[in-house]
Amino acid sequence: MTSAPAPLNTIVIVGGGSAGWMTAAALSHAVGNTCKITLIESEAIGTVGVGEATIPPIRHFNQRLGIDETTFVRETQGSYKLGIEFVDWGKLGHSYFHPFGQYGAEFDQVPFYHHWMREHLAGRTDGPIDDFSMCWAMAKAGKFAHPSPDRRLIQSTFDYAYHFDAGLYAAFLRRFAEARGVTRIEGKVVDTALRAEDGFIQAVALDNGMRIEGELFIDCSGFRGLLIEEALGAGYDNWQHWLPCDRAVAVPCERGDFTPYTRSTAREAGWQWRIPLQHRTGNGYVHCSEFISEDEAAATLLSNLDGKALADPRTLRFVTGKRRKFWDRNCVAIGLSAGFMEPLESTSLHLIQYAILRLIALLPDNSMSPLLAREYNAQTTLEYERIRDFLILHYKATERQDSDLWRYCAAMPVPDSLQYKIDHFRTNGMLVADERELFANPSWIAVYLGQGMLPARAPALAHMREGVPVAERLAQIRTAMQEAVAAMPSHDAFIARHCAAPPIAA
Ligand code: FAD
Repeated sequence: MTSAPAPLNTIVIVGGGSAGWMTAAALSHAVGNTCKITLIESEAIGTVGVGEATIPPIRHFNQRLGIDETTFVRETQGSYKLGIEFVDWGKLGHSYFHPFGQYGAEFDQVPFYHHWMREHLAGRTDGPIDDFSMCWAMAKAGKFAHPSPDRRLIQSTFDYAYHFDAGLYAAFLRRFAEARGVTRIEGKVVDTALRAEDGFIQAVALDNGMRIEGELFIDCSGFRGLLIEEALGAGYDNWQHWLPCDRAVAVPCERGDFTPYTRSTAREAGWQWRIPLQHRTGNGYVHCSEFISEDEAAATLLSNLDGKALADPRTLRFVTGKRRKFWDRNCVAIGLSAGFMEPLESTSLHLIQYAILRLIALLPDNSMSPLLAREYNAQTTLEYERIRDFLILHYKATERQDSDLWRYCAAMPVPDSLQYKIDHFRTNGMLVADERELFANPSWIAVYLGQGMLPARAPALAHMREGVPVAERLAQIRTAMQEAVAAMPSHDAFIARHCAAPPIAA
């Protein structure tokens, strides 16, 4: 007779990077002391050490865990992020801003963007749609304040996220998780024992002789996918033909301009990030090894820093794509072990966050129902594919023809799901997305227009809204934005007042 299903007694997390400690923190918060959670990590192997820019939903993750924002920003040497400035992406010498928030304000039953597009195509606007983004207005003025809860105010139309030091972030979450009963074991996993009858993971063996058994294993071991791939062979979908960058050289430098946003500058064979923190600026050149050597990429990066480099440049290698199964038998891959779509829109920590929330929602008991894995894999696949399409758009929508990478990207075929969206936009000015998409309409507008893709016409209804004083409303919105930004403190002053971190060596 088989025994009745019972709640899990033991969960083992392999890996103590951001993925491992985010998982440990959230799971311990969710299950309390009902289940023993063990995290194994190897200091000798270390972590990837990057992953310092986020998107707004990270705030919900912190709120769910009861993490106080000012403590969090202070302890991670963090800063605020209102979006990403993209430099030289559509064409050389041109920039645009992908904001965390909407454009303008709604003043009619037709969305703001439809009216703006009609005006723009008729030649009645004198600047880009960026001029109607609160995020950009704040960002270019170097200002920061929290959004207003009063939805009638223009100050309610933006959102924000954080930049933080990846090492301090993992350490912060480690303290949180250990305080809630998570046991950390230092050691290197050298072997994985599978059950003969069904291939489930039974235990992992460490180099110090320990053997750790578990019912559910979470693979947070990074790119190599120690459990999900090396032990279980879940398989990998390679997306390099759409997302061709496969290397990043990273280096921190002395702090420069303390901008409340990330900057992404397109370069000959990829793009460079700039992430301002309180104690330093993070930099990296994400590139495609087919078009530039690692040494050349490092030299380009070092000649484009705000200040003195604080370490030697470090190269990271990756293959863009995702695991075929994120959850296989009694193992769930979270973090880089699940896949990596490159850091262009700071989506990796977000994918970790949603993987954890999904796992908690579908948490199995010890019967390990395969239906749960199926649902988890279906939802996660959809999430990856939606994000993938948005990232590909950045490479595809370019007029650049000045280097092999950009010529390749401009000519490459894209997934049908993305082509469908592009066709809607180009033909009718329409944005087609379902409400579960991570990147909502303003994000798509930002990249389409920012990278020079214009529709043939504005959506039809915009032409039928006779009598709406559009020009007057646009002018009012601009004035309201200017007044709101003028009254805000600088990003520096905001941090100094609320969450200044103690000085530490970078
Ligand atoms: P890792 O940090 O690699 O951690 C793996 C862990 O597993 C380590 O603790 C290691 O010691 C342990 N381990 C491995 N093998 C063993 C073993 N045999 N035994 C015991 N332990 C083992 N994400 C964002 O959201 N925003 C960004 O701006 C961003 N920028 C990025 C830039 C680059 C160039 C790259 C490559 C990634 C970036 N990411 C970004 C992704 C982000 O860094 C990762 O999603 C995040 O750090 C999680 O990594 P991880 O914990 O899965 O892996």
